[in-house]
Amino acid sequence: MNIRIGNGYDIHRLVIDRALILGGIEIPHETGLLGHSDADVLTHAIMDALLGALALGDIGHYFPPTDPQWAGADSIELLDQVHRLIQAQGWQIGNIDAVVVAEAPKLKPHIKSICDRLSKALDLPPGQVSIKATTNEGLDSIGNRAGIAAYAVALLVKD
Ligand code: MG
Repeated sequence: MNIRIGNGYDIHRLVIDRALILGGIEIPHETGLLGHSDADVLTHAIMDALLGALALGDIGHYFPPTDPQWAGADSIELLDQVHRLIQAQGWQIGNIDAVVVAEAPKLKPHIKSICDRLSKALDLPPGQVSIKATTNEGLDSIGNRAGIAAYAVALLVKD
């Protein structure tokens, strides 16, 4: 079989005095995501999709939140490590499709920067990395601006 698919999900709390980083891009906002690393919820969901496609476990296995070496980690660097793991097994990314669920801030002005940052980090043409954003229509914890979630699907291909 020369194609594999994986999905990933993540959620982090929004708190004051933290930067909001999505897909490696810092986005101006009065709150940011809480986490052991930089809490880049989008990049984490993508990493889990990539790992899941090859049944390699999840990011908590590779970068445990209890390990001080990942405190404040740049999630784009962690993504690079996951990408190398996949490439070492002979796989390439076919495409990624992800959605960020956030009530605020409005992400539309930042989507292109996020796509560019992620596609560059993964050495992919921008057309193979799709990032979408939606609100939760004011419902539940995300709608109450208590957190931001992200879902991702990744297709891997092998020649
Ligand atoms: Mg996470």
